Amino acid sequence: MKASVSSGNSNSSSSSSVGVGASAGAAYGGGDYPRYLADMVRRLEEVNNQLTDRVQKLEREERYREELRNRYEREIKKLRAEIEKLRTPPLVVGTVVDVIDDKRVVVRSSAGPKFVVNYSQSIDPKEAAPGTQVGLSQQSLAVVSVLPSAKDPSVYGMELIESPEVDYNMIGGLNEQIEEIKEVAELPLTAPEQFERIGVEPPKGVLLTGLPGTGKTLLAKAVANRTSATFIRVVGSELVQKYIGEGARLVRELFALAKEKAPTILFIDELDAVAARRVEDGTTGEREVQRTMMQLLAEIDGFNPRGDVRIIAATNRPDILDPALLRPGRFDRIIEIPVPDREAREKIFRIHTSKMKLGKDVELDTLAALTENATGADIKAISTEAGMFAVKRNKKSIEMEEFEQAITKIIGDEQKHHLYPKETGAMFA
Ligand code: ATP
Repeated sequence: MKASVSSGNSNSSSSSSVGVGASAGAAYGGGDYPRYLADMVRRLEEVNNQLTDRVQKLEREERYREELRNRYEREIKKLRAEIEKLRTPPLVVGTVVDVIDDKRVVVRSSAGPKFVVNYSQSIDPKEAAPGTQVGLSQQSLAVVSVLPSAKDPSVYGMELIESPEVDYNMIGGLNEQIEEIKEVAELPLTAPEQFERIGVEPPKGVLLTGLPGTGKTLLAKAVANRTSATFIRVVGSELVQKYIGEGARLVRELFALAKEKAPTILFIDELDAVAARRVEDGTTGEREVQRTMMQLLAEIDGFNPRGDVRIIAATNRPDILDPALLRPGRFDRIIEIPVPDREAREKIFRIHTSKMKLGKDVELDTLAALTENATGADIKAISTEAGMFAVKRNKKSIEMEEFEQAITKIIGDEQKHHLYPKETGAMFA
């Protein structure tokens, strides 16, 4: 009989074949048979150890392969989910108009019509309050997700400054207007009890009218600084949106943001873009502007005049504003910001050149005389431009020569503009 055990490993250095038989036993001689058996047992143990090692190694390899397979399966699953996600149809954006019960809401899709739809059980009913923006399934229009509010100022081009660094002494020539705005916008924030004691309500909104660059924004910023209020500036045209209901929602969120950041000075520039007199031309665009304005009026009517949000609006076309806006309780205080006169221009020059090194020949009153019709913004531009000329020429200070050139550069063109309308008018007269 012959028993053969092989490790099956061709690289194995030790021979793993063990022969057991009478002929092999005979080689040890009759008396050596026990030694032969002992030898045999030792060899078999050796082979057994080798085989155990081999089995363990194979088991380790098997485990590693198993792990690898699991890892790849996970990866495949993830990629499949990603593909699935990319294949899912987009959600329709809508706005919750009304909550009917804990299963149904009325939503208005961005295309216009309203729908009664269900909402996913995963949505907290409190989150789906009227006015919230939601994502709707394309097929059933069911509310699938609640979208975050767009109160982020950068989203709609709002400017938000915690407390602007502008003081009244940085505004030239508007003393009367400063006094007036202090009374109607600053005092209600700093000393509301004075109004309460007398029993009058401060005006809710102040309207600044005047040409661009005359300092309207500057004035509003100074009020915010004095009252340590947050300054939010939004341009009227940004509130007019393309889609139905968007503008109104934006106005709502703007006021919510103002209340959240209170005390706040809410500055609406170019108010005429959203509040021009209503003309029924029947277009959707026109209706949308009106809807935005109605929301603005509703917000103004709805807030407390003694609260800590003050609205200051600005326009250079007060003539086209809807009279509804100017009614008592709305923008009932109008402050006209004039183009600076000679004295004011001198003051504005003084403000903008205060940190500049001026030559001995520079006379601010002469500069004021040379800049008739210039606004505060023009004067600022002239001062900066004169400084640039001096830098270019490597001068130690800015001299009259640079100012004269800057005046020609900045308002030379504008003065031509002043002439043109007259000439054109004469042609058609
Ligand atoms: P717009 O209607 O275009 O918004 P605005 O009337 O609000 O114009 P501001 O933005 O306040 O004008 O002014 C522009 C810049 O002009 C200001 O940053 C400021 O440097 C300068 N400026 C305007 N008016 C004055 C002023 N009265 N005193 C000092 N600087 C002024």
